[in-house]
Amino acid sequence: MDAKTKLELLADNAAFESAEEKRGEAPPSNSAAACGHSPLELKRAYEQIQAGSASTLETKKNSLGIHHAQMPGGKTIALLKTMLTSACERDCYYCPFRAGRDYRRATFKPEEMAKTFNELQRSHIAEGLFLSSGVAGGGVRTQDRLIDSIDILRNKLNYRGYVHLKIMPGSERDQVQRAMQLSDRISINLEAPNTRRLADLAPHKVFLEELLRPLQWAEEIRKTQPAHLGWQGKWPSLTTQFVVGAVGENDLEILSTTAYLIKKLRLARTYFSAFNPVRDTPLENHTPENPWREHRLYQSSFLLRDYGFDLEDMPFTQAGFLPLDVDPKIAWARQNLVETPIELNRADRRELLRVPGIGPKGVEAILVARRTSILRELKDLKALGVIVARAAPFVLLNGQRPSWQLSLW
Ligand code: SF4
Repeated sequence: MDAKTKLELLADNAAFESAEEKRGEAPPSNSAAACGHSPLELKRAYEQIQAGSASTLETKKNSLGIHHAQMPGGKTIALLKTMLTSACERDCYYCPFRAGRDYRRATFKPEEMAKTFNELQRSHIAEGLFLSSGVAGGGVRTQDRLIDSIDILRNKLNYRGYVHLKIMPGSERDQVQRAMQLSDRISINLEAPNTRRLADLAPHKVFLEELLRPLQWAEEIRKTQPAHLGWQGKWPSLTTQFVVGAVGENDLEILSTTAYLIKKLRLARTYFSAFNPVRDTPLENHTPENPWREHRLYQSSFLLRDYGFDLEDMPFTQAGFLPLDVDPKIAWARQNLVETPIELNRADRRELLRVPGIGPKGVEAILVARRTSILRELKDLKALGVIVARAAPFVLLNGQRPSWQLSLW
């Protein structure tokens, strides 16, 4: 099988991994993939690639597993999201790659993967690489092959661009460190928020020792080893992913683990994937999860990461779920700010971040504007990038509640 055919085969399911997509920033669409992970827009069209017309360029890229990805820092690049092999000896209940599932697999050797990606990036078809794998021959051996692929790419083929490398369950500490010396980002998918839930989702994965421990090692390495040992003088960022709604876990469980990951292990992102059943897996008859649940989890994780919110601030129901019909920041503000609105001319950074419609950039703009003027009207806020329809019910401007319409909320 040639390399292009392998990429096409892998692309059919490789999009199930989250990798630098702009996820969680917009309300859900109906584009969830059949397997319940990333939106999958991969159509078979490699023959059209050869035709080379501009109109087929995106289709051509999608067929190989290349998609638009947002880098840490905001830049968008064409990221090849693929796997070293889609063969796997594990049997996670939700996964299209699970052992024994009948479909055509593809496997790259490390050298072949490195050369294939190198050709794509030299042809300006792909600019970055996300590389994952099924587990074949154990987590340690699979991790060695992933590392070998990137080692060849970096040290033989002199590729300096973006690499996001997956860490396999059961990898060793030295392998995590080596991966961190070659990559811009590494990730380990926890899939479930705790040991109990993982047992129902992926019975042969061990939550603490195989999945959480490598993330803890990565943070230990970042804290204790000098940064010049990392790739291009920096240690990589860390991410993980949860499957949401497959095994009865509630949002409190997921966000408890998320808060730990963000605050203690400094994860850059936690990805959430609303479950959708995959044909011919043990969960194929399980009900798909509402994509709004995924969206509310993203919003809450951003509040934990960027807005100074704590788990206790989240508007959980008694059953431990977030309401689907309201933004969690607005829910918090309705409970806490309606009677005691925040005076935007005096509030500190932490208080400003609590106001719906005001993000970190808006806070900075307000703090700068206040040095030279008094904020008096909603149009002053609008000019600073504040979403005034959201902020108005919860703020004071120069001691006055701004006039706003009931319909706004
Ligand atoms: S380890 Fe589990 S989730 Fe990963 S590829 Fe294998 S079956 Fe899928």
